[in-house]
This record gives sequence, structure tokens and C-alpha cells, in this order.
Amino acid sequence: ATPTALLVGTGRGAQLGILIKGPEVLESTRKVDTIVLDKTGTVTTGRMTLLDAVAADGVERAELLRLAGALEDASEHPIAQAVAKGAVAETGPLPVPESFANVEGKGVQGVVDGHAVLVGRTSLLEDWSLALPEDLAEAKATAESQGRTAVAVAWDGEARGVLVVADAVKPTSAEAIAEFKRLGLTPVLLTGDNRAAAEQVAAEVGIEEVVAEVMPADKVDVVARLQSEGKVVAMVGDGVNDAAALAKADLGLAMGTGTDVAIEAADLTLVRGDLRAAADAIRLSRRTLGTIK
Ligand code: ADP
Ligand code: MG
Repeated sequence: ATPTALLVGTGRGAQLGILIKGPEVLESTRKVDTIVLDKTGTVTTGRMTLLDAVAADGVERAELLRLAGALEDASEHPIAQAVAKGAVAETGPLPVPESFANVEGKGVQGVVDGHAVLVGRTSLLEDWSLALPEDLAEAKATAESQGRTAVAVAWDGEARGVLVVADAVKPTSAEAIAEFKRLGLTPVLLTGDNRAAAEQVAAEVGIEEVVAEVMPADKVDVVARLQSEGKVVAMVGDGVNDAAALAKADLGLAMGTGTDVAIEAADLTLVRGDLRAAADAIRLSRRTLGTIK
């Protein structure tokens, strides 16, 4: 490959809204046959809204929103921002937590107004030997069967409620995925979210292969497994939890709207966060390298 042609390709990429780390990246782009897509923030907008708050027997809805909202206000996660925003809208300004910690891939924990609070997956509660009572488990299952994401809330050693949030698919995602298929790529949806929510999004955008309920540290293993099957893998992501997988993939693509950690780990950045630019990048690299030889 002549460096000049590669540099021309790089310049054309910039016009298309694709930032390419170096000309050599185009070489691996051309060979890709599988494209792994993170769900939240990549295929979906990542801007969630709080749809419902289900309080356990004897728990006030306002108290549920206040304690969960205060803790979530300290987190950057799209679910957290939806919860905090919904809580403020309904109950007013939130207290500042006395302590806060992120539990990767599971949720958040901390102290609010003297209460030890947890918000996140059921597995986070299980880590503290807490289970959801039947009515809350049922509310959660119903929400998830509708393709929504439901997180559990507990404080002072007891499960207290379930919060339901939902996220919208980006208007450009289905078109981008149809384009990947035309280019001969197999799309795979990869997420830490529950299976029902993942299947719902996959169906909406035309993805047949879904890997759900994956812990952040295990996303990289999914990429490695595909590679061990002989696939040449592109990975598209936006979050801190995608960074290792982006680095491991034969081609890492970060959403320009995503976190710096993801952008640093990737070979390519889709400046506008539009998945269609990933298809443009693959087409460009094939064309650029096709003209060289
Ligand atoms: P994704 O792969 O979709 O970006 P993450 O790995 O960030 O998802 O999170 C996986 C799951 O952990 C979420 O679907 C949610 O159930 C739970 N979770 C993570 N962070 C939070 C949070 N701040 N608040 C509530 N739940 C959370
Ligand atoms: Mg994400």
C-alpha cells in the first residue's frame, strides 16, 4: 500500500466525520467480517427517562425517589441520570450523599441521609444477601418483558423498590445495520443489560445475534471468542466499560459522543456518534485499498 493513497483515505475519512488514528488502520478495517455493537449509547441514544417507580409495601414513593435519586446523581451512567432527573422533577432538590461508590456493571452504593443505599441489578443486592420481595420481582419482570430496564433499590438491609427506565433507539441505527449487512458483515449486539431489553432493541434494528447480561470485564472475552472462531472483529462502543473490548478488537470504533477512555482505546472515532459513519469507514477503506495494490 502506498502511503499517499492511505493518507488520501484518511483525509476523506475526516470529511465523512470519521477520525482515523493512523493510515495503517484502514488495512484492518478492510478485512472486518463481524461488527460487535454495544447497546446503550451506541445503538440507542443512551438518554434514558424514568418511566415508573414502584415502592415496596410501607415505603413512600417520594422517599424511594429521593434516596435513589441522590445516589444516582453522583453517577454518570445513563440509567443514573434518568433516575436523578426523574427524582428531582417529582421531589425537588436532592440531598448530597455522604459517600458514593460505583459498582462496575452492577450499579451504585453509598450513604444518603444516614441510610446505606444500593441501586442497581438484582445481583448487586444479592452481593449483600438481599432479595427482592415477590411484588417487586414481578414489577421488574413485567417491565423487562416490555423491553425496559428495571433496577432495584435497597436501603438499610432491605429491598425497597424498583425503578423503570427506557432508552430510545437512534433514528439512524436500523439504516446503519442494514448497510453493514449489505457490506457482508454480521452484526452482534453486546450489552450488560437484561436479555429481554436487548432482544427488543435487536429486533427493532435488525440484529439477529445478541449477547446480553455481560459484565463489563467480560465484553473483551466476547470479542476474543469471536476472534478464536476465525472472525475479523470490529467493535463499536462509547463507554468506559467498552474500552478493553475496543482495544482487543481487530478494529475499535468509538462514538465521538462517548467517553474519552473509549475514544483513546479505539482506532477510529465516529465524530457525530452516527453508526452509519462506521459503514462509510468500511466502504472507504475497501475503496482506498482496492485502488492501491
Ligand atoms: P451497558 O453494557 O448496556 O452499557 P453497563 O455494563 O453499564 O450496561 O450496566 C449493566 C447493568 O448494570 C445495567 O443494565 C443496570 O442494570 C446496572 N447498572 C449499572 N450502572 C448502574 C447505575 N448507575 N444505576 C443503576 N443500575 C446500574
Ligand atoms: Mg454503552
